[in-house]
Amino acid sequence: MKKRNIKFSEATELLYEGEKINGCDLTPESAPIFLTTAFTMGNLENVQNTYDEKGYTYVRTRNPNRNSLAEAISFLEKGKYSLIFSSGMGAITTTYFSVLKPGDHFIANENIYGETFDAINLLLVNYGVSVDYVDFTNLEAVKSAIKPNTKMIYTEVASNPTDRLSDIEELGKIAHANGAMLMVDNTFTTPIAIKPMTLGADIVINSLTKFINGHSDALAGSITVNDKEIFDKIHTIRMLTGTSGCPFSAWTVYRGIHTMDLRVRKQMKNAALLAKSLEDHPAVLKVNHPSLDSNPQAELAKKLFKNKETMTGMLSFEMPDDRQKINEFMDRLSLAHYAPTLGGIRTTLSHPLHSSHHHVPKEDLDKMGISYGLMRISVGIEDIEDLISDFNYALEVFQ
Ligand SMILES: *Cc1c(COP(=O)(O)O)cnc(C)c1O
Repeated sequence: MKKRNIKFSEATELLYEGEKINGCDLTPESAPIFLTTAFTMGNLENVQNTYDEKGYTYVRTRNPNRNSLAEAISFLEKGKYSLIFSSGMGAITTTYFSVLKPGDHFIANENIYGETFDAINLLLVNYGVSVDYVDFTNLEAVKSAIKPNTKMIYTEVASNPTDRLSDIEELGKIAHANGAMLMVDNTFTTPIAIKPMTLGADIVINSLTKFINGHSDALAGSITVNDKEIFDKIHTIRMLTGTSGCPFSAWTVYRGIHTMDLRVRKQMKNAALLAKSLEDHPAVLKVNHPSLDSNPQAELAKKLFKNKETMTGMLSFEMPDDRQKINEFMDRLSLAHYAPTLGGIRTTLSHPLHSSHHHVPKEDLDKMGISYGLMRISVGIEDIEDLISDFNYALEVFQ
C-alpha cells in the first residue's frame, strides 16, 4: 500500500496487512506460498547474522506465510505480536505450557469448548497445575476462586453452545489485581465483533479454522500478546513442541482473511435475524443469541459489542425433546446441514449432546442450559430470506 498520512478503515487496511515479505523485492498482487523447509545461507558470517537477526532459517522456527498471517491477526486484534499454530488446540496447549508451571493455579470458565476442557483435565492437571471451574457470569464467584498462586484466568467471550457472555474488562481487572493473566478465546466472536486485548486480555487465542479462514478448508490457530517476554516464551515452546502452523494452511487462511470483513459481518447479521425469526416461531422453546432483547445478558451484550448485528454468527435454539421429530426436522432442511465444524460460509448444525457435551453429567447440562432438543447453528452467508424459509419449512414437523 502506498503510504499517505491517512488512516483508512479497518476493512480496507486489512487487505494490505502482512503483504510485505522481509527480504523479498518482488511485489506480487497475491501472496506466494513458501513451500520450503529451509532458507539457504552463505558463509559463517551470513549464518551468524541470519540467526542474530531472527531471519528465515528452518520452517518450524519461522516462515513468511505464517508471518504475513500473524501481522494480519495482530492488526485485527490490536495486539503487538501474534504467532500462528498448527491448530487452535495447538495454540491453546502450547500457550499453557509456555506460561504455566507446576504449582500454579488456573481458573477456567465452566462453559468452554469441549476439547479445551479435556486439554486442561488431561494435560494441565497432570503437569501439576491445579484447576477450578467457575461460572463466569458470576464475577463474585471468580473473585472468590482466586488464590495466591493463581496464574491465569481463562474464558471464551461467548461460550459454546449457549452464547453465555463473559465480561472481559471486569475479568481483566480481577486477574491483574491478583497478579494473574487473562487469556481469552475469541473464536466465536472474532476480532470483527470484539477485541479482547483492548479490554485488558493479556493473551487472545483464535481458532483460525473457523470464521477467520471461513472456507472450511484449513486447520490453524493463533495467539496474540503485547508482552515481548511472553511472546518469546511461546515462540520457543512452539518451536520445541512442533506446533508451528504449516505454510500451506497459513497461506490458505491468509487468503481467507481478506474476505473476512464481508463474510463475518453478514454471518453475524444473519445470525441476529435468524435468532429473532426462530424466537417468534411457536415450535421453538428458547433461542440463545446475545442480540435478543429476551437474553438475560442483553445489558452485558450492549457493553461488549457495538451493535446487535455484530456479535457472533453462532446461536442455539431449543426444540421439544423428541428425537424422531428432530430427525424429521433435520431431513426437511435443504440448506442447514450437520457438520462438526463452525464458522464456514454455509450454515451448519451441531447437536451438543451428540458431540461437544456428550460426556457432561445431566445436572451440569441443566446448569449450562443444554437439553436434548438444543441445536447449535453456525450461520453462513446465504440470503437471510432463504435461511429463514428453510428453517420455517423444517419446523413444520412440530405442528
Ligand atoms: C474449534 C475451536 C477450538 C479449537 O480449534 P482447532 O482449530 O479445531 O484446533 C478452540 N476454541 C473454540 C471456541 C473452537 O470453536
